[in-house]
Amino acid sequence: MAKQQPVPQLRTAGGIRYELTRKRVKNLNIRVREDGTVAVSIPLRTSAEAADRFVAARAAWVQQAQARARRRSLQDARPLPDKETALAHFTAMSDKVYPAFAGVLGGQKPTIKVRSMTSRWGVCHMAKRQITFALQLYNQPEAAQIYVVVHEYCHFLQPNHSPAFWAEVAKLLPDWKARRNLLK
Ligand SMILES: [Zn+2]
Repeated sequence: MAKQQPVPQLRTAGGIRYELTRKRVKNLNIRVREDGTVAVSIPLRTSAEAADRFVAARAAWVQQAQARARRRSLQDARPLPDKETALAHFTAMSDKVYPAFAGVLGGQKPTIKVRSMTSRWGVCHMAKRQITFALQLYNQPEAAQIYVVVHEYCHFLQPNHSPAFWAEVAKLLPDWKARRNLLK
C-alpha cells in the first residue's frame, strides 16, 4: 500500500513540471493555478508513473492554461484606463462596426457606455439601443475587443446565443472563436 505523502512531490512529465499529492480521492485531478504552477492529486494507491502519463497526455492543455495565466497576470498588472479614454476608444471601434447594422438599427447609432464589470465584457440592451462595455475590456487584445463589439451588435439581430446568432457573428468575423479565446 502506498504511503501518503503530506508534502507534494515535484515531478516532470511531458515537459510539464508539476506538484504531486496523494489524497483520498477517486480520480486523478490536474489543476493549473493562477500563478501557472501545476498541481496534480491522485488516489492513495496510484503510482507516480501513472500520474506522469496522466500529465503527459494533457501537456498541450496545461501549456494553454499556463499561457492564459501568464496573459492574465500581465493584464492585471496594467492599470485600468479612465472612463473617458475607454469610452472614446470603444465608440471609435463601435463606429467601424455600425455600418453593417445600420439597417436593423434604423440608421441610428446605438448609445455606447462603459462601466467596470468583472463578470462580462459587454451588455447589449436592445430596447434602449444601447451597448455597455466593460472597462476591463480595454486591457484585452484588440482582436478580442473587436469580437466583443461585433458580438454585442449581433444581439440587435438575435437576442439570444442561438446558432442563428453565432452565424451572424461568423458572417462578420469568420475567426471569432480564435478571437474569443484571447479573452482571459
Ligand atoms: Zn451575448
